[in-house]
Parts: sequence; structure tokens; C-alpha cells
Amino acid sequence: MEESYLVSARKYRPSTFGSVVGQKALTATLRNSIATDRLAHAYLFCGSRGVGKTSCARIFAKTINCQHRTPDGDACNECDSCRDFNEGRSLNIIELDAASNNGVEDIRNLVDQVLIPPTTGRYRVFIIDEVHMLSTAAFNAFLKTLEEPPSYVIFILATTEKHKIIPTILSRCQIYDFNRITIQDMIDHLQWVAGQEGITAENAALNVIARKADGAMRDALSIFDQVAASSRGNITYQSTIENLNVLDYEYYTRLVDAFLSGNVQESLLIYKEIRDKGFDSQFFINGLAGHFRDLMVAKDPQTICLLEASDDVRNAMALQAQNCSPQFLYRAMDLCNRADLNYRVATNKQFLVELTLIQLCQLLSPSPADSGMGEGPLRKIAPQAATPNPAPQAVPKPQAAVPQAAPKPQPTAPAEEAPPPPSPIPQPAQQAAPTPSAVPPQHGIPQHAAAPRQPMGAIGHIRSISGMGNLSVHGTSTPKAAEQQAVAPKRQQPFSDDDFLKAWDEYARENPTEKIVANAMATCRPSRVGENHYSIRTLSLIQQQQMTDAKPAILQFIADRLNNDFITLDVDIIASDDEAPPSTWRPAKVLDRMKKDNPYMGTFINDFDLKPE
Ligand SMILES: [Zn+2]
Repeated sequence: MEESYLVSARKYRPSTFGSVVGQKALTATLRNSIATDRLAHAYLFCGSRGVGKTSCARIFAKTINCQHRTPDGDACNECDSCRDFNEGRSLNIIELDAASNNGVEDIRNLVDQVLIPPTTGRYRVFIIDEVHMLSTAAFNAFLKTLEEPPSYVIFILATTEKHKIIPTILSRCQIYDFNRITIQDMIDHLQWVAGQEGITAENAALNVIARKADGAMRDALSIFDQVAASSRGNITYQSTIENLNVLDYEYYTRLVDAFLSGNVQESLLIYKEIRDKGFDSQFFINGLAGHFRDLMVAKDPQTICLLEASDDVRNAMALQAQNCSPQFLYRAMDLCNRADLNYRVATNKQFLVELTLIQLCQLLSPSPADSGMGEGPLRKIAPQAATPNPAPQAVPKPQAAVPQAAPKPQPTAPAEEAPPPPSPIPQPAQQAAPTPSAVPPQHGIPQHAAAPRQPMGAIGHIRSISGMGNLSVHGTSTPKAAEQQAVAPKRQQPFSDDDFLKAWDEYARENPTEKIVANAMATCRPSRVGENHYSIRTLSLIQQQQMTDAKPAILQFIADRLNNDFITLDVDIIASDDEAPPSTWRPAKVLDRMKKDNPYMGTFINDFDLKPE
């Protein structure tokens, strides 16, 4: 590196097909066509910048002229021809950059050269880069030569924009489409280059560089040079994000943890740290949106391929994604998107971002009181999250100890806020069982009397979802229950607690992929609170949510095992008994108080013309 500093992009330009990064299938085909001597007279290489089109064209030209190809079909890099190529003085390769030489004159010059046969070697290769930039006149001047070139001429046309190539050219070429280079391929190559240079580099650092390069190896190598120069032979993650001014991925991870635990204070403090580091707030919100998107695709093995990252980052994302329900991620992305859209018009941008963070913390918050910032129902006044139904309606009232005689058919909640979509799994008929009309005579004990601590026990589904905060999901199960009353006949075999627990554990064993559910089933043991009525108390909101989602399937499973269709289950959360449902607040009152307490909030509320419903 001392004598003459060569940038890595040039120094480590691939010299054989084997060293081209990320184009294995394509280079194998090219090599094979050379080995079997089945050459076309015109090739079109398509693909985005930096994926190796020009490198492959040069290697191709070198390989077909090599005097002693290796058994693998690669250039030997030792014969006279190879040496001429490697030293840049071969007369058998002519390159034209059509981006800067796109006129008729340029093509005429090229055509003149086509007429000169090679003095040494077999072929003369003409590489026309960015061929879509040729003017129409130049294209036409070129067409005839392309159609009938001398036998010793091979054209390799390269383009980043295949759709701009006219059909008459396309039909005369053998077309090769280059892949975008994957992050992992880039990291592997950068790691190799680092080794050659005697530089140590953390994988996480190379991951940042590869992401920044956006699929172009050449860019990755120049960014690598830049970082290497400033980090004196030891490329760390920290030095890389500082050098490239990239927001540490760690911030997003910590923020998601804060959202999941509803920790408003923590999220606001993290945001302050980010601002203090000089990052733009809109950039941050977009980065956060991207992080949620990545978590969403990482959650599902089918879509994890959409996550452009190294394998270890993928694994880390998949791990965090386990804690996030799809509903949480969708709504989080939606909130970020809205913040981005409102960003330009917001007078107080910092406040807009903070409000968004608060809303994100509330997505899983059990009650406004728990969100840490006092008055919770902020989502009601956000310009975007307007729901037509007043919130108190959504809150299960503690006075509901009033006998829950029959499930009242309540209006179905508007779709916008309704969290878990109706599960595709058929709701087991026993959901309807506890209602007096469905309870057979031998069920002497009324359900709610058997479960005094859980007045809403009779419709556990509703009770459990209320844990999501004041979301309007009531009523989603009751019409179903009514429907199911019509279903008959029902099984009703007696069973012991042991039978129940056995079936319970069997379900958990048979569904090991549902990690959170299996975990919850192992740690939260169900207790019998009525003849056919069980209750569990989960340890976290996520558990509660996932258990609620899985409940129909679990109950169906147990019903089949025990031959009893009347079993019901309440899914509660351990702390939720102590919380006082927020039945006292009124949106208008809250709004006024917020305006008074915080002038920024007042501006915001006025600017967006927010009104309580
Ligand atoms: Zn050679």
C-alpha cells in the first residue's frame, strides 16, 4: 500500500470468472460456453451498477484469447495474451463508454476498428458500456455491423437499463441478467479483501458498509477504503457507523423494547440521544419504519429472504420479531408512516416525533395509567387515529359485575382500530356455553359466581382483549357465540383436572413453533374456576395477546381430547386485576388539560384542528 496506493475497487477487481462476486450461475454459463467453443457474436449484459458487468466482459475477452486456459475454463493469467490484458495493453479489447461517446461519429470510429483483424490471439472484443445511451442515429449506424460482424469480432453490450434497448438490438444478442449482489456475498468478499490488506474488520461493520453500498460491489469497496483509512487497520462497528454517519441499529432495538414494555420515558430519552448525535428526526422516523418492516419480514421464515442483511443480523432480527405480534408491527409501521407524511406540515417536528413514540408505546399498553405519562388516550386525539366510536364504550366497566345475563349483540367495532382480525380457526362451540341459555341444567353454578374475581369471566374473550388497552374490539365474539348456540349436538363428558392438564401440555408439545404460546402454557398453569371453566394469568401482554389468539385452537384441541364442548378459558394478565379501568376520563377534558399543560401540544392540537369525538 505504500509505494503506489491503489484503491481496493481497482486492486481487487476480479481477474477470473471464479473471483467474480455474487454471479455464480452466470459466470459458470459463460465459462462453459467458452470451454465448448459455443460463442455468440453479441452479448448483452444487464444489471444495476456495480454488479460486475464490465468486469465479466473484460474477463470474458481475456479468457477467450488465453493460450492456456485452466481445466476449469479460466484464463491462466500467465500467457502473453493474459499478461497484455492484465497490463492494459492488449489490442484485442476495445472499450467504448456510450454515456460520454454516444454520437454517430463515435460509432463510425468503432465500426472502422471492427474491420481490423487481431494480430495476436483469436478474437477482438468490443465492449460498449451503457449502450442504452447511444443516440438513435448511432444505434442505426451500429445495427448493420452488429448483425454481421467479422468472425473474429465479439460485441459485449452492457446496460443498467435493459428496457431502453430497442428490440432490434435485443434480438441480436445473447442476454445475461446480473443479480444484485447480496449483503452476505459482499460481506464475505470484503472480509477477504480485509484479510489481503492485513486489516481486521468486524462482521457487523462490514454489514453496515454492504448495506450502504446498496448492491454495488464497487461502492462497497470504496466505502471500505474510506472506513479503513480512518480506522487504522481495525474496522469496528463503532468506527464504521461514526465514519459513515449511520444511526446505530442498537437504538432501534432498544426503542422496540421500550415500545413493547410501554416505557414512554425510555423511548423519549432514546430519541433525545439520537437528536444529540445530530441525526435528523425525519431520517430517524424513516429508519424506525424500516426497522419495523424488517422485523415484520424477519418474523416469518417465508419472508425472511426479503431482509437484506447478513445472516447474524437476520437471526438477531428474527429473535426480536418473536416478541412482536403482526398487529403490533402493522400498526407501528402505520404510525411511522403517518408521522413521515405529517412531518413537513408539523410546526413542531420534535413534538410530532415524540407523540408518535408515545403512541407506539401505547400499542400494547394495558391501560393509559400504565403508559407512564398519565393520561393515556393520546391515540384518540392524534389526527390520524380518529375512530368513530367514543373510547369509553370500548372500556370494560368494572361495574360489569352486574350479571352478564346474555351476550348483548354490540355493534361491531370499526375496522381501523380493531386489533386481532377474526381468527380463521373456527371458534369452538363451547364459547357459547357459559351463557345461561346454553348452559345445560346440570350446570348448577353460575359461571360468574364461580369466578368472583373475574366478573367478565363469562365472556373471557372480551375480557382478555381489553388488556390491549381501550381498543374497540368488544362485540367481535358475541355474535359468533349467538350463532354457535344453534350448533348441536355437543359433547359433555366429565373430566378431571389431570385430564385437562394432560391435554393442555399435549397441545403445547404438539405446537412447538408457537414459542410464546408454548412458553405461556408451560409457565402459566390453568386453574379451574367453574365446572368447565378455567382461567390462566399470563405474565406479559405479549403472552396474553398470543394466548388469546391461540385460544380457539387450544380449546378445540382440548374439547376433542376430553370429549367436552363446554370448556371455556379466561386469559388474563397477572397485574390486570389491580388496574382500575380508565372509565373516568373524557376526551374533551383531557384535551383541554393537555393544551394547558403543554403549549406545544396546544399548537399541535390547534394546527391539526383536533377534536375529541
Ligand atoms: Zn492466459
